[in-house]
Amino acid sequence: MKTSVRSDPQEPVRSGSQAGEEPGNWRNFDLFAPSEEHALLAESLRIFVQREVEPQAAEHDREERFNRALFRKAGELGLLGITIPETYGGSGLDGVAAVQVMEALSTSDPGFGLALLAHSYLFAHNLWVNASAEQSQRFLPDAVQGATVCGMCMTEPGAGTDVLGMQTRARPEGDGWVLDGVKTYITNGGVADGELGDVFIVYAATGERSLTSFLVEKEMEGFRLGQKWQDKLGMRASFTAELVFEGVRVPARNVIGEPGEGTQHMMRNLEIERLTLAAQGLGIAQRSLEVMLGYANERKSFGRPLRDHGQIQRYIAESFAEYRAARAYVYDTARRLSFTRAGQRVDADATKLIGAQVAKRAADAAIQVLGGAGYMGENVVERLWRDAKLLEIGGGTLEAHHKNITKDLSRDPGQIA
Ligand SMILES: Cc1cc2nc3c(=O)[nH]c(=O)nc-3n(C[C@H](O)[C@H](O)[C@H](O)COP(=O)(O)OP(=O)(O)OC[C@H]3O[C@@H](n4cnc5c(N)ncnc54)[C@H](O)[C@@H]3O)c2cc1C
Repeated sequence: MKTSVRSDPQEPVRSGSQAGEEPGNWRNFDLFAPSEEHALLAESLRIFVQREVEPQAAEHDREERFNRALFRKAGELGLLGITIPETYGGSGLDGVAAVQVMEALSTSDPGFGLALLAHSYLFAHNLWVNASAEQSQRFLPDAVQGATVCGMCMTEPGAGTDVLGMQTRARPEGDGWVLDGVKTYITNGGVADGELGDVFIVYAATGERSLTSFLVEKEMEGFRLGQKWQDKLGMRASFTAELVFEGVRVPARNVIGEPGEGTQHMMRNLEIERLTLAAQGLGIAQRSLEVMLGYANERKSFGRPLRDHGQIQRYIAESFAEYRAARAYVYDTARRLSFTRAGQRVDADATKLIGAQVAKRAADAAIQVLGGAGYMGENVVERLWRDAKLLEIGGGTLEAHHKNITKDLSRDPGQIA
């Protein structure tokens, strides 16, 4: 899977399924697998999910445990560095591939998917886009292989949506910086009970409304794991933790970019973060539909399959239409995503706004179609319903998306069409 994305965007696009058709014909364009590489990736993902992800998903949710071994396997398959250039051991693919990975994993285990998302997009992708070649060389090869488990620290006990209100501070000292503060709800903050994750991009205030990005490594003195958040509603196969920084000395070589550039790094990374979270919603909706349709065909009431009842048809049809519309929007936005230029914030926010809600509604509809069976833990839709709720909070709440979208459209109404 270690392949490069096409360098020439004008090159005719042919997917595996369309081989043999006239090249360059725009009608052949497959939004969901625009090249042979994407088609191959889709097939590898299908096999990986079926053989490796699905058999462990329910157990890791129940035990609230991150699957470290599965994470390594994802690294071996090239899934942890999907957007990272081959120079650093990555697959060198694009936004569509990133979305494919997250949709496929989330049909089975959104919690494991979230751990991968935090590592691959909030940490590795963020680092590659914003850090120096030396920093990328130092951290990315291990991250891409799955030798390390990494994350990104923005949220604090007193500041989430209001990110510029963060209290974690860094002050210059000698040839480096000293970091103090607490971050919370950090995915991959730990990997197992009492065991800290490996490397984190930490945003800290270095002046009045000025943030700087630091690379904090687990061996650094004063850096420790606070509490593990237990009893989460969903995404229980990911480890969510509080991280404590007490006089952590961070050398200058671990500062990303220039002091004061942290907000810019954060904003640049939000587009891929929100798109991949939206893709998690697609996976949840897809699986919910498969489950509710299968049940509606099998289960009889009043002598007829459930699918013959109009109210059940409504659940299936509405979920299907919403899923297909959201899927087209997410993949179209992913296709146009630039890794180096911001510019699609409105679509990144809007895809996540719709992806999150479509997922929750589809999982809810699936539970309703299954009746009591849907409410029971042995059926996957109950877990998907719990996992879907995170998408309305993490990576920006629904309300944050409402604000951003309205602000961006008011600034440039031309973005509507
Ligand atoms: C499972 C999980 C994993 C996470 N992983 C990470 C991670 O890896 N790294 C990380 O940094 N963070 C992570 N987060 C944190 C997440 O991004 C935040 O929870 C989210 O940004 C919201 O912040 P908050 O929880 O502080 O809520 P608040 O900001 O306190 O918001 C509370 C409520 O008020 C609303 N609100 C706030 N301000 C306004 C306003 N101006 N107008 C209208 N409504 C408003 C919000 O929309 C929300 O409904 C994770 C969270 C969870 C639950």
